[in-house]
Parts: sequence; structure tokens; C-alpha cells
Amino acid sequence: MRTRPTSSAACSTVAVMRSLVLVGHGSHLNGDSASAVYRYAELLRQRGLFGEVIESYWKEEPSLRQVLRTTSSTDVTVIPMFISEGYFTETVIPRELGLGHQGPVPPGGIARVIGGHTVRYTLPYGVHPAMQQVILERAREALPEFSAQDTALIVLGHGTTRNENSNRVIHQNAAALRELGLFAEVHALFLDEEPKVTDWASRIQAPRIIVVPFFASEGWHTQETIPEDLNLSGQQTTFTATPHAPQTIYYAGPVGTHPAVAQVIFQIAEEASQQSSGGDLDHTLVEAWNTLGERASQGLRVGEVLIVPHGNLYELRHVLDEGRAANELTTYVTPEGLRDRIRFDDSGTYRPVRTFRNMPRHWRAVVGAHDLRRVLQYVYPAAVEETHAYTCRTLHFTPWPTTARRQTGLYARVQKVSSAQVEQVAATVCSQCLRSRLWAAEPLTRTFLEGVPGGLPCAEACTYLVAAVRDWQKQRKQEAGT
Ligand code: SF4
Repeated sequence: MRTRPTSSAACSTVAVMRSLVLVGHGSHLNGDSASAVYRYAELLRQRGLFGEVIESYWKEEPSLRQVLRTTSSTDVTVIPMFISEGYFTETVIPRELGLGHQGPVPPGGIARVIGGHTVRYTLPYGVHPAMQQVILERAREALPEFSAQDTALIVLGHGTTRNENSNRVIHQNAAALRELGLFAEVHALFLDEEPKVTDWASRIQAPRIIVVPFFASEGWHTQETIPEDLNLSGQQTTFTATPHAPQTIYYAGPVGTHPAVAQVIFQIAEEASQQSSGGDLDHTLVEAWNTLGERASQGLRVGEVLIVPHGNLYELRHVLDEGRAANELTTYVTPEGLRDRIRFDDSGTYRPVRTFRNMPRHWRAVVGAHDLRRVLQYVYPAAVEETHAYTCRTLHFTPWPTTARRQTGLYARVQKVSSAQVEQVAATVCSQCLRSRLWAAEPLTRTFLEGVPGGLPCAEACTYLVAAVRDWQKQRKQEAGT
């Protein structure tokens, strides 16, 4: 019988009573996609409102399916880091977290007990009333001396016909800003639905027009499609052939990247923390990290990473760099420093799955026991918790048909792919990965906690594999001309 390990210094960081999870979209392709969530998580850690702040993503790790296993407290607040309500905040995130809720989230959020955790799910930051101030800040940056006599404001949303709630925030902000009386006109316009921003000239009479994109970040739309649709030649463009010419458009930056957004997120976190009376330590997690601490104190290899204790410190490095002098390697002393290094392989290519066998080399991280957990959470997200659960026989596997049935939207088509065809795709994708596919009945006799460095469980097909299956199917259909 397994005995409960005694506590060790490496687990001292788990003594918290409230956990905050920030959920971002993440990406399989773009290594910078997660950076805004990382930045806000760091700011919130400095505020100290919650005992811990954890990042989770739809398309990166720890995934939404894994993240509740990684929180120290049984009291968990989840803030979706999205600019508006819609498919992700109302369908994908609640589904993947197992909230048992689909559709619009009420203003007070949703509270559920899931696997012994009390989980509070809030509205996305973009719909918080304080975002009006962020829009105003952006407008001021674009045209500091705007006036109620001659300046119109366009709050520009993406718009979609797939979810009526996604545009509600644009209309609400435009209405609230109109009431303030700071502008001659305030319009809610969209890229992909009526009223369209391309019709601005027929709607707006004011000679000066500020366009504030209500978008989460700079990207294809803010940098390419919007300037093209509006015929902009820069931050300021004057039109002489419009019905109310001359008219000048002042193009602002997207609201989501304004520094004031951090304040909005603090406010949401504060409001959420007031609703919470705190929880207990998750003892399963304590046990998992105590086990890891014990093994690490004797020297341990996890996947491609070697952990060597040095007094009160731990040194981590790529196993192939064992024996190299410290001055031949780049040294990191914070979890964030190492995190940013290992997101890319040695050729600079983004690593969408952290357990792929392409960990970059030539680095070492030297951290105290209190940072060992965070470092490993960035190196192999959720691996310690899942591996410990596997050794305790409490890790539930999800077979492919169940994963496929859960998919919606563009991914729903993977439901038509047979398990044999999935195996074909997995043969390419998963062969790069350290994890053993328990969901496909692959054997895993011993884990890294039991001395086999590559022994890491995979309980469910990851979103990277799901996307690869979808792409494979799409290509097959194109080839068949159907
Ligand atoms: Fe790795 Fe494949 Fe599991 Fe994804 S599905 S984590 S690639 S083993």
C-alpha cells in the first residue's frame, strides 16, 4: 500500500486558501499568443489577492481539462481573459471545465462544486463596466482634444452572426459613452455584421471621428483588415469625398492591450475574492508535490529535464547538458525566465505541446524549493499532478469517441473520423511526445516518479491532436473533392 509521503520544503508553496485561474485562448501556432495572460497573471501575483494565480488555455497547457487538478486550494475563481461574451466564454470554457452550464453567464457569474473544488466562473473582463474608461483612454490617445461639438466616436467590434451576445458589449459601451455626452455622436459598428463600419460615411456627420477597435490585441484585423476597409493611410486620415467632407478619422489602438486593462482585471479579481470565504488545501495536490519534493531531493529526471538538489536550491537543465560547465549555459533564476526560454526549441520554433521531445538545450535554472513547483508547472504543465494521480489509480482516461463527441463548432467534424484514422494521425503527432496515450490503451508501467524519466501519462487527446485530426480530415475531403 502507498504511504502518504511526509511534507518537504519543495511543497511549502501550496499553503494557500484561494486560487485564481486566468483562462486565455492560447495558440498551437503563435508563441506570443499567451503573453498577455502571462503578464496579467504576474501583475495579479504581485497584488497578492489570491494565494496563487495559474494560467490555463484552450490551445495550450495546462489545458482547461487539466487545470483544476493543478490548483492548491479547493476554492477556485476562474476569469476568462476574453474581450467579449461568445462561443468561448459561453460554450467552450464551461464545457471543458465541466461547469455543467452552457449559454450566457449571469452578471454574478456561476458557482459550481467540481471534484471537491468550489469553482466560481466570472464574466470575461471585456464586459466589465470599467472597460468604458479604457475606451476613453484609447480615444484620448488618438485625439487628446476631442470635443462634444465636433467629434464622433466609433466603438468598433468584430461582430458575428453565430452568437448574439458577442456584440452586446459593443452596443452597451456605445450607449453608456453616448450618455456621458463627451462626443457629438457615438456609434457601435462592426466588421462582420450590421451596422457595418464600411458604411461610416453615410452615418456620421461630425468632421472628426475616432475609431476605437474593441479587440483583445493587435493582429490581422487591427493592423490589416480595418485599415483596408476604412481606406486609412495611417493613424490620421482625411477624407474629402464623403457626404459630410472633409472628415478625418483618428485610428486608436485596440482596447485589450491598454495598460488600464490590468486595473479592470484587478477589479474583477477583487470582486470575485470578496465572494469567496476561502477553501482548504487540496490534499491530493499536497501529496503529489510532496512526492515530487522527496524524489527531487535525491536527484530526479523528468522527461528531458534533470533536477539536481544543491543545498536549499534545485538546478534544472536539459539531460543532454549533464556535465556541462555552468558558464556554458544560460542561467535562469525565475520560473518566468525559464518559461519564456522553453516555449521555443533550439531553432526558435514554437513548441505547442510542452511534452514534445524538442526541449531546447544550453540552459540551467536555479531555483529555491518554493519555486520548484512553478518551474515544473511551466516545463511540463499538470504532469506531476496527473502522474501522481496515475500512480494512485485516480486518473480517469477519456477515450477518443468521448473527446470527439465533446467537440463543437469547426471541430465537430472530427466526430466523423474513425478511431483507426485517429491512430494514423496520432502515429505522427504523438510519436514526438513523451506522454503515453492511456486513452488509446498504450501501456505505462512505471512513471518518472518511479524512476522511468519518460513515463508521463496522457489521459485524453490534447487539443493539438484534435486540431491535427481535423486538418487531416479537411485535407482528405479536399483531395476527394467533396
Ligand atoms: Fe502528447 Fe498525443 Fe497526448 Fe497530445 S494526445 S499530449 S501529443 S500523447
